[in-house]
Amino acid sequence: MNYSPHHHCDSFVLEEDRFHEECGVIGIWTTQDAASLAALGLHALQHRGQEASGIVTFDNHNFHVHRGLGLVGEVFADPRIISNLPGGKAIGHNRYATTGSTQLRNVQPLYGDFEFGGFAVAHNGNLTNAQRLKQSLVRRGCLFQSSTDSEVFIHLIAVSLYDTVIDRFIDALKQVQGAYSLVALSKNMLIAARDPLGVRPLILGKLPSIEPSQSWVIASETCALLSMGAEFVRDIEPGEVVIINDEGLRSIKPFSCTSKRFCIFEYVYFARPDSIIDNTSVYDARKRIGAELAQESPIDADVVVPVPDSGVPAALGYAAASHIPFELGIIRSHYIGRTFIEPTDQIRHLGVKLKHSTNRVALKDKKVILIDDSIVRGTTSKKIVEMVRAAGATEVHLRIASPPTKFSCFYGIDTPTQEKLLAYTHTTEDMRQLIGADSLAFVSEDGLYRALGEKSRNKKQPKYCDACFTGDYPIPLIDHDASLAKVK
Ligand code: AMP
Repeated sequence: MNYSPHHHCDSFVLEEDRFHEECGVIGIWTTQDAASLAALGLHALQHRGQEASGIVTFDNHNFHVHRGLGLVGEVFADPRIISNLPGGKAIGHNRYATTGSTQLRNVQPLYGDFEFGGFAVAHNGNLTNAQRLKQSLVRRGCLFQSSTDSEVFIHLIAVSLYDTVIDRFIDALKQVQGAYSLVALSKNMLIAARDPLGVRPLILGKLPSIEPSQSWVIASETCALLSMGAEFVRDIEPGEVVIINDEGLRSIKPFSCTSKRFCIFEYVYFARPDSIIDNTSVYDARKRIGAELAQESPIDADVVVPVPDSGVPAALGYAAASHIPFELGIIRSHYIGRTFIEPTDQIRHLGVKLKHSTNRVALKDKKVILIDDSIVRGTTSKKIVEMVRAAGATEVHLRIASPPTKFSCFYGIDTPTQEKLLAYTHTTEDMRQLIGADSLAFVSEDGLYRALGEKSRNKKQPKYCDACFTGDYPIPLIDHDASLAKVK
């Protein structure tokens, strides 16, 4: 195995395990320049993780790895890095994690040498029993290199008593609980797997290839395909394991049938709007949420203004449904990172100012309906409402294209602890006052489900994982019993 030079050195600080990670994954089986294609795919998935990126390739003899801290464009900026990643098979990963664990040793894909050869894994999601599994693996002598929950896959595979790679992989899957969309690479195959509820997305695509062998792509979202010149084939099903090798593709379903619970917040905010998930366009879904919001919480106003970029599709839907003109009253700078990822509250405040500025022409002397996708801590909304007023708006009515976020996510979306969620500690009226809006309304849970083609939210069997809004956690939070007790 060749380790490419890292441009950040790896210093180990002992830290508590942190399990809040947002990620994007890519897998490629077989094409020329797999590493450059993987980098293109990761670039299109940059919104899923901006702190670190990595690619592992296999050239039929050796595995090669490069991982680094930063954006994809930074980590793979030097063309020599890609040329040091030869081979037609690759997996890649983008990662965003809370500050404590931003260290090179946590950057994926993770790689291990096994009796059967090298094996690399990239994971999107969060396991809810990783700490418990880790304790028993450590007792059995496994030495953990990182503090990510994903590393338990590597050790479970290593200690499995099964013979074949795929049997060991499934053995590992059967022991973990939580949300996972995985890609893994051995010398003989590319594997893709999705947890039984299909909480995080994962799709299959095809690259143009010289027959007879097919070139396959696995990606978190369809938006990666276009940039790789690949075609969409289908979603990987919840609970499905897809095995791709030189003979082709086969699918196994090692789990008994459960009803799926895809993450509704992917439609609200997280996925890229040009992605199609489970036959539903994210962009259309967001517009429909905006239309529901207009129906549920109408208000007389002169303009509908999105908080860019996250509020744009919902604002388009709200404007169309309410027949109030859509205006770009706030302009977003694309040259600074997401405010959300800045570590301290002070910097977060500063970040919002750097990121957004007002377009007075569209706001002065206007009654404004301001649309955003969600309120987490409330920092963004408070700052933006202040800015819109300072630009001369006579009224500011805030409409949010999701229900109040009252519960932390333990399945792979980074949310702060519950105490920091404004909607957990405040009523809507208290939030309105704190944010300084003339009125504040959230789309209802049923409205959100209607936007996604359901009649309403089926309380007994909701179609989606909506735990961040409802506290209905579909996968037991084994490592988080204390937090579960708190929310119930
Ligand atoms: P806040 O200032 O904490 O209320 O941030 C709310 C904004 O952050 C929302 O309008 C979203 O655009 C964005 N956001 C929501 N959830 C996340 C997340 N998990 N990661 C990054 N950004 C987020």
